[in-house]
Amino acid sequence: MTGCVKTGWVKIVGLGPGDEALVTPEVRAVVDEATDVVGYIPYVRRIAPRPGLTLHESDNRVEVERARHALEMASEGRRVAVVSSGDPGVFAMASAVFEAVEEGAPDWRNLDIRVLPGITAMLAAAARAGAPMGHDFCAINLSDNLKPWALIEKRLRLAAQADFAMGFYNPRSKSRPEGFGRALDILREECEPERLILFARAVSTPEEEIRCVTLAEATPEMADMRTVVLVGSSLTRRILREGQPPIVYTPRSVPAPSVPE
Ligand code: SAH
Repeated sequence: MTGCVKTGWVKIVGLGPGDEALVTPEVRAVVDEATDVVGYIPYVRRIAPRPGLTLHESDNRVEVERARHALEMASEGRRVAVVSSGDPGVFAMASAVFEAVEEGAPDWRNLDIRVLPGITAMLAAAARAGAPMGHDFCAINLSDNLKPWALIEKRLRLAAQADFAMGFYNPRSKSRPEGFGRALDILREECEPERLILFARAVSTPEEEIRCVTLAEATPEMADMRTVVLVGSSLTRRILREGQPPIVYTPRSVPAPSVPE
């Protein structure tokens, strides 16, 4: 590389769904080497303070400003960890940093910037329940903060028609109480009432709660902002067990007659 590379860096890291055991060793090492940690308040609070480390907490919805701050500090030679929950590439900070790089100072492009993966909520929840995403699946962010609601509806409907299993992030918040009910209405138009839905809340934390219901039984109140909602495909099924939660899984193969027209 050229002489313009400085010792500063930006590492955009995923802290996983909550449990310390689910933070990867490489992410832990980066946090240990960092001089600065930047991120949304609840995620920065997961980092233990220590001498030589400055924690920069910021509010929701200021992702690109936060990213610029990280890049500015790195260009001054600081070692900056940008933290997200789960995986940083899934509805999180990695894209925000690259937006800031694309629009920002030309020398930001020469910085040492890396993305370190984490375990995303959808896959942590799926593993708890069995293997509901064991065949083709997609992930949809149900928040309309960063895209029009009409696009969410379109993607949801087409994904249901294509018979994907689906993971819904940000299903429901106090500022958007209606959206998830509308999403359930679309599913009821496209899928059979027996379709399995998992409401997985606070996965891998002491508040973890996992509930498996049919589409007919699902209600909007079953989700909140700490919930990831997994919707099975038409082939997703339950193995019932005595005294234990059911195993929910999607078989690896699709018989030819169930391929949608
Ligand atoms: N980058 C994160 C997602 C951020 S969007 C990731 O890869 O997981 C925030 C949404 O993620 C929440 O509204 C919720 O839908 C989901 N989520 C994050 N952590 C979760 C957890 N421990 N349990 C269930 N859902 C979680």
